[in-house]
Amino acid sequence: MHFAVLTQEPNNYTSTRLREEGEARGHTVDMIDTLHCYMDIATANPTVRYHGAELPHYDAIIPRIGASITFYGTAVVRQFEMMGTFPVNESVAISRSRDKLRSLQLMSRKGVGMPKTGFAHAPDNTRDLVRKVGGVPVVIKLLEGTQGVGVVLAETWKSAESVIDAFSGLKTNILVQEFIKEAEGSDIRCLVIDGKVVAAMKRTAADGDFRSNLHRGGTSEVVRITKEERATAVKAAKVMGLNVCGVDLLRSSRGPLVMEVNSSPGLQGIEGATGKNLAAAIYEFIEQRARPHATGTRGK
Ligand code: ADP
Ligand code: GLU
Repeated sequence: MHFAVLTQEPNNYTSTRLREEGEARGHTVDMIDTLHCYMDIATANPTVRYHGAELPHYDAIIPRIGASITFYGTAVVRQFEMMGTFPVNESVAISRSRDKLRSLQLMSRKGVGMPKTGFAHAPDNTRDLVRKVGGVPVVIKLLEGTQGVGVVLAETWKSAESVIDAFSGLKTNILVQEFIKEAEGSDIRCLVIDGKVVAAMKRTAADGDFRSNLHRGGTSEVVRITKEERATAVKAAKVMGLNVCGVDLLRSSRGPLVMEVNSSPGLQGIEGATGKNLAAAIYEFIEQRARPHATGTRGK
């Protein structure tokens, strides 16, 4: 079969694994820089052009759309969908997952466990906002942040108020969340493919930090997850409508709580921690499921 990986980083670990594993399985895998694609949308015969020529028909595309190019990247994925190409994740599901507020509202509506969370822009009563999520300590997050940047733990009312006031001044959306102390600086990343958790790792923060992001010096190890954790991750993926995703959970005294769902999960940390061939797991899914014009809007 003929596949394309849409990525701005054709040589990083995940892209390389996807290319090599696809080729090892007898497929042709093109690496396409998403931002260099251009499209003619106003015709009955939609195409995607690249380097001055029309791209061939692909049996499937594997979108690896960076958060900073979500808007253009999902337009490219949508164009492939219009051409009947099977996307590993649909454009709508990718857009949905990039909007934290929308994602958490949808999961909350469907009864997926999550930390008590408040959203705000320029709250006129900071104390009430913090009180509504259970008081201090609270985690305050800049909605646009990634990899732990803009995630702050405020342990006193005074610090919570000054952080929220400072963030309000940035004219951005903020999230105020109950601090899950029992998680002890760890979270669980579950890789979900086609409604099954195929691998899980536990990430633990570097000493003195509560943020377990690997980019912040956290470490990862393989972990056995409980039935409830498995069911929560699967449900989160289903609500989001994502075929392949990373679901991040916190272990709390009231069970697993979903922090976020990532529609372009990296393979390096989790293949390293588990020793599993997860690029192969993605191809098994594609080989079974890729059909022309099989895209619909799923999840809600
Ligand atoms: P990013 O999306 O920037 O990675 P996250 O929301 O995932 O930010 O937060 C980064 C890390 O901080 C998480 O991996 C987790 O270890 C920790 N963390 C985030 N929210 C909470 C919370 N409510 N309670 C406890 N720890 C948290
Ligand atoms: N199902 C609609 C959509 O796919 C609305 C739900 C949502 O906000 O994601 O856009």
